[in-house]
Amino acid sequence: MSPLDDPSVRPLRVAVLGAGIVGIEVLRLLQEEREDLAQRVGAPLEVIGISVRDRGKDRGEHVDPSLLTEDAEALVREADLVVELMGGIEPARTLLLEAMRGGASVVTANKALLAQDGVELYEAADAAGVDLHFEAAVAGAIPLVRPIRESLAGDRIQRVLGIVNGTTNYILDAMTRTGADFAAALARAQELGYAEADPTADVEGLDAAAKASILASLAFHTRVGIQDVHVEGITSVSADDIAAAHRLGRVIKLLSIVERIDDGVEAGGERVSARVYPAMIPLSHPLASVAEAYNAVFVEADAAGSLMFYGQGAGGAPTASAVLGDLVSVARQRMHGGKGPRESHYAELPIVPIEELRSGFYVALTVADQPGVLAAVAGILSSHGISIATIHQEPLVEGPEAGAVHAERAEGSPSRDPRARIGIVTHVASESSMSTALDDLSTTAAVVTIDSVLRVEGE
Ligand code: NAP
Repeated sequence: MSPLDDPSVRPLRVAVLGAGIVGIEVLRLLQEEREDLAQRVGAPLEVIGISVRDRGKDRGEHVDPSLLTEDAEALVREADLVVELMGGIEPARTLLLEAMRGGASVVTANKALLAQDGVELYEAADAAGVDLHFEAAVAGAIPLVRPIRESLAGDRIQRVLGIVNGTTNYILDAMTRTGADFAAALARAQELGYAEADPTADVEGLDAAAKASILASLAFHTRVGIQDVHVEGITSVSADDIAAAHRLGRVIKLLSIVERIDDGVEAGGERVSARVYPAMIPLSHPLASVAEAYNAVFVEADAAGSLMFYGQGAGGAPTASAVLGDLVSVARQRMHGGKGPRESHYAELPIVPIEELRSGFYVALTVADQPGVLAAVAGILSSHGISIATIHQEPLVEGPEAGAVHAERAEGSPSRDPRARIGIVTHVASESSMSTALDDLSTTAAVVTIDSVLRVEGE
């Protein structure tokens, strides 16, 4: 007999907080898959209320208006399971804490909240003996949290590297395909609904950083907060950078990289790095072909080797799939007793400062077009222990785009003309060496402007 028809089975009371892009799709699936979900869980999932800000808004056929409420606090008190799809820090944080203290298990898609207040939430879940699941918070539909937290719990993860923000991937992909500059590609992404009216969290890398902090904490069994993630967004990636990458057989992607770094006991032993920045990667790299708003993530573990996860990292229905997966999981725990995985943070690994990290670099310089300039530039890089992999002349950039990083002109430096632009790709060097080399380059008479500096990864 279906649990829907069995009067001895008490339905599980589900509170849904938020009926926006994701919430509406979750409510649709709860309705359309009602029978199957009840069979999978062993009890019906009954939505007892939907909390929103404005009850007057039209939300379509899958949202029962009689369930809408603006009193989220009262709603969570009545629930066995709470699904938080409001976003933001407050009131989501307080509501989830209250829900767990009251004995409800919680599913959330809220990466910003987890990255900022995850520790408090995990502790509240443990104290109350309830579950806190958040598959949808990282890379939308792509199963990534559960594989890292459960499937790879017996392995040793070394690195997680990927594209976890669909908006910025859409923008960079559009810039690559059409030659558009950042502002035009962003405007198009906004028109098509891939970017929000306020795109700051995406284009400044903050959304990707929140996901990196969650991934690093899970992968390395340690606590990595959003403040531990080095973040650079894509706002200064220019059409010239994209064109330069193309000439070099590369493409620019916003990468989230979290990795275990072990430089030996004297250097501090095992540590963790978490960073988000745009980087050039070779066209042959599997992440290079991740187009539009798709996400892709590599996980490298000692025994498992390399695993790749690919799919839709956002959108109502894909994200709702991950939310429903979590909801079934916490509902089953509720039915059959027991608790899902707790937070694991025993490793307590220190964070590696960005200055100590190493990568290849691409540096574009506008220089005085005169003999000896290349030797002077190479000499400065070499004096900081940086060796050049390739150097080539690039089309000169005129107008306001030239000189993203303006050099301090030394007194008596030569006139700006004639000029040339050069693109240099270095071998792997430390961030601190590159930083001091750039300082020296910026005060060298032959260097007119430092136009661009990007990491080169995935060689
Ligand atoms: P959304 O479209 O903005 O919907 C938010 C919903 O929450 C709205 O229904 C809103 O009510 C309600 N809400 C907001 N603040 C509230 C408050 N103070 N009290 C009561 N209700 C409130 O957001 P979304 O895109 O569905 O995202 C929801 C969550 O999923 C966020 O944490 C987001 O980061 C995460 N997520 C989204 C995606 C995606 O593709 N959209 C992907 C992965 C994860 P009103 O409708 O009345 O304004």
